[in-house]
Amino acid sequence: MFENKESEKTPLGQLGEFGLIDKLTNKFKAKNTETIKAIGDDAAVLDFQDNKCVVSTDLLIEGVHFNLSYMPLKHLGYKAVVVNLSDIYAMNAMATQITVSIAVSNRFPLEALEELYEGINLACKLYNVDLVGGDTSTSQTGLIISVTAIGKVKEENLAYRDGAKENDLLVVSGDLGAAYMGLQVLERENEVFKVNPKNQPDLSPYSYIIERQLKPEARKDIVDLLAELEVHPTSMIDISDGLSSEILHLCEKSEVGCNLYEEKIPLDPTVISVCEEFNLDSTLVALSGGEDYELLFTISQKEFPKIKGNPNLTVVGHITAKSEGAHLVSRNNSKIPITAQGWNPFAKA
Ligand code: ADP
Ligand code: MG
Repeated sequence: MFENKESEKTPLGQLGEFGLIDKLTNKFKAKNTETIKAIGDDAAVLDFQDNKCVVSTDLLIEGVHFNLSYMPLKHLGYKAVVVNLSDIYAMNAMATQITVSIAVSNRFPLEALEELYEGINLACKLYNVDLVGGDTSTSQTGLIISVTAIGKVKEENLAYRDGAKENDLLVVSGDLGAAYMGLQVLERENEVFKVNPKNQPDLSPYSYIIERQLKPEARKDIVDLLAELEVHPTSMIDISDGLSSEILHLCEKSEVGCNLYEEKIPLDPTVISVCEEFNLDSTLVALSGGEDYELLFTISQKEFPKIKGNPNLTVVGHITAKSEGAHLVSRNNSKIPITAQGWNPFAKA
């Protein structure tokens, strides 16, 4: 990668806050009819008419949630939006607006922030959401990004975490563990690069898992698909911290137990082969890896024919009585209690 000459970069101090906000946001055009007023006043104005409005927010901190040495800023902007949209889709809702707040040190020139906002804009376009506001501040150290996502849903379609019922089927979208293995590859190559910066690794065999780490997608398509199939999830959650921790959230909130079948957990072939390379158990990676941004939901058994054979959806287990607990049924048919080994932000402290 080659850098622009320092002289071509615009220090933030040259712009002033309003100049900067304008530079970053003037390419954004509101597309949704709910957006009455976007950027430019004291507050955005939204009109949801007969829909319920859902709101979710996330904070991303340099050195904690992302590492700019292998995360290009455009990808970071894209990912910051997508991980928030995922929470909206996990309510079985459609995302409609976001706000983005940033704190930056003056080691970032305007051009770097423009790259970040290019990624944000791309996500807004692909997921059909409007940027309707935010805040801009300085930071003494790293980059901080906070995104708030807003969405709409008809009350009868809302999917909470607490609605799973005994005998419901447990379903996941897509496949699991890829983002975690992508991160393992990136961290390994980052270490190699520190020792020998001339080394150009061939990452093509890992492209699927690296993309899942650097450019994750939220499953808007699954919310659309469920509506089209007229499937009504009884509960739903997005898989950000690993399958096991999300299953435990659903079971706790719904006051139920579950059986999860190891052989049913959907894995991409690349995940299986890279797990072998790293000497990791692929089931453990799927259970604890995190950052998959797939959807985990439950449906009543009578809805099974509607999803049967759909390549985007896999039935991985079923809901039991609370007294039975939450278990993984292994390939050799032993029952192992599911424990939350998901990503814990305080564990490393
Ligand atoms: P205030 O002084 O009321 O906080 P600002 O000057 O911070 O207003 O913001 C002016 C407008 O620009 C508002 O609509 C605000 O939501 C928007 N805005 C500010 N920072 C950002 C940002 N980083 N990204 C998107 N919109 C922003
Ligand atoms: Mg402000």
